[in-house]
Amino acid sequence: MLKLQNYINGQLVPPAAGRYLDNIEPATGQVYSLLPDSNTQDVAAAVAAAEAALPAWRALPAEERGRLLVRISELIERELEPLAQAESKDNGKPVSLARTVDIPRAASNFAFFGTAAQHFASETHFQEGVALNYTVRHPLGVVGCISPWNLPLYLFTWKIAPALAVGCCVVAKPSEITPHTAFLLSELCIEAGLPAGVLNIVHGAGPGTGQAIIEHPAIKAISFTGGTKTGEHIARTAAPMFKKLSLELGGKNPNLIFADCDLTEAVNISIRSSFANQGQICLCGSRIFIERSIYEPFKAAFLERVAGLTVGDPLEAGSRQGALVSEAHLLKVLSYIELAHEEGGTLLAGGKRVHLEGRCANGFFLEPTVFEGLTPECRVNKEEIFGPVVTLTPFDTEEEAITWANGTDYGLAATIWTRDLNRAHRVAHALHSGIVWINTWLHRDLRTPFGGMKNSGVGREGGLEALRFFTEPQSITLKLG
Ligand code: NAD
Repeated sequence: MLKLQNYINGQLVPPAAGRYLDNIEPATGQVYSLLPDSNTQDVAAAVAAAEAALPAWRALPAEERGRLLVRISELIERELEPLAQAESKDNGKPVSLARTVDIPRAASNFAFFGTAAQHFASETHFQEGVALNYTVRHPLGVVGCISPWNLPLYLFTWKIAPALAVGCCVVAKPSEITPHTAFLLSELCIEAGLPAGVLNIVHGAGPGTGQAIIEHPAIKAISFTGGTKTGEHIARTAAPMFKKLSLELGGKNPNLIFADCDLTEAVNISIRSSFANQGQICLCGSRIFIERSIYEPFKAAFLERVAGLTVGDPLEAGSRQGALVSEAHLLKVLSYIELAHEEGGTLLAGGKRVHLEGRCANGFFLEPTVFEGLTPECRVNKEEIFGPVVTLTPFDTEEEAITWANGTDYGLAATIWTRDLNRAHRVAHALHSGIVWINTWLHRDLRTPFGGMKNSGVGREGGLEALRFFTEPQSITLKLG
C-alpha cells in the first residue's frame, strides 16, 4: 500500500515515530494509502529546515522566487490529469470538477503569486521640505499554513504561494482526510528545484501535527482555513504568542432570488451554488430565499434540475454528484436531515443515503436534498451543514430578505439575483458578507479580497491582502535637511 511521506528540508522522509494514519477513499469506504502521523519532532525538523533556508530565500530577488513558483505552476498543469484523478479519489469529488476547477486553480495560485510579488510596491509619504517616510515590507519569516479537505490542493496552494512569493519559508499541513495531492505537490517542488527547506509539508492529524505547528514559537504567523471551532481554538492558542492570524472559517450563505431576476439563469447557477462538490464548498448558498411571487415557478424548475443530478462513482465522467468526504461527515449531514424533519420541514427532494452497485457499494453517497417550510430562525437554517442540503423560503419584502440573510453568526458569502441595479447594490451593501455575488456565483478574480465577516473569519486572503499578511511593515523616516 502507498505510504505518503513528509517533505522536509527538500526530501521525502518518513515520520520520526514511524506511525501512520489510514487514508480512506470516500467512494469505496476502503483504506487505500497511509499518511504520516507526524509529531512535534517532525514539526521541529520542518521548522529548523525552514529557518535555515530563510536567509537565502528572502534575499533572492522577487523575480527569481517568482520564476520558481511559475515553474511549479507549469508542472501542475503538466500533471493535470494524474492530479485530478488523485484529488477525486482522495476527496470523493467528481473527477470532472477536479479537472476543471481544483487543479487548474492550484496552478493559477502559483502563477498568480509568482508574478504578483514583482508588482508589490510599498508606500511613500512625503512631507514637503520636512521628511520622507517610506514603508518597507519584510517577509515575516517562517509561517504555518493549515488547510481543510474540501478543496484540497486549491486551498493549500492558495496559502503557500503568497507566503513563498514574498520571501517567507513555510511549514504546511494539508487535511489528514485528503493528503494525497499535497504529497504529489512535494514531488513537483523537488522537480522544480525549489531550494531545500523553503517549503516543508508535514502530514498528520489536527490535534497532533496541527497543534505542534500552531504552538511552535518560531512560527510567526498562521494562515488557517477550516471550521469555526478549530479557528477559535487556534486563535486562543496563537494569539497570546502574538502570532499573526488569518482565519478563513465556516459559512451559512444566503442566496436571494428577486422576482425580476433572469429565472432560468438563477435556477441554473443556484443548482451549482447549492450542490457543487456535494455542497462542500464554504461558499455554497444553502439558504435560498425567493420572492413570493416567483416561489412556485422557481421551486418547480429547481426541483426538475435536482432530479437530473446523477449521484455516481466520482471517477466516471457522467457523475454530477460524488461521495461525501467521510463516513463521519455523511452521518453529520444525515443528522441535520433528521433535524430538518423534527423542525417541521417538508422534504421536497432527496434526504437519503445512496447505495451504489459494484466498487462504490460502501461509499459515502447522499441524495441532493431540498427542504421547504422551515423558519429562518431554526437550527437547520442557522448552523453550517456543509453538505448537499438546501432550504427554500419565500419572502415578501427586501427588508425581510436582508434581515433573514444576515440572521446567522456567519458572514462569508451571499448571492443576489435581480435585474434592478439599484437594488443589487443597495442589498449588497446591507449584507454582512465578506463576498457578494450579483447574478453569478463563484466568480473569482484572484486580485480581490477573499474572506468572511463575523464568525466566518478574521483577515482576508487574495491579491495584495495576502502579500500584506505575510509581510511586516516597517516605517522609516528620513528628516530632510
Ligand atoms: P477542520 O477545522 O476540522 O480542519 C481544518 C484543518 O485544521 C485540518 O488540516 C485539520 O487537521 C487542522 N486542525 C484541526 N485541529 C487543529 C488544531 N488543534 N491545531 C491545528 N490544526 C488543526 O475543518 P475541515 O472539516 O477540514 O473543513 C471544513 C470547514 O472548513 C468548514 O467549516 C468550511 O466552511 C471551512 N472552510 C472555509 C473556507 C473559507 O475560505 N472560509 C474554505 C473552505 C472550507
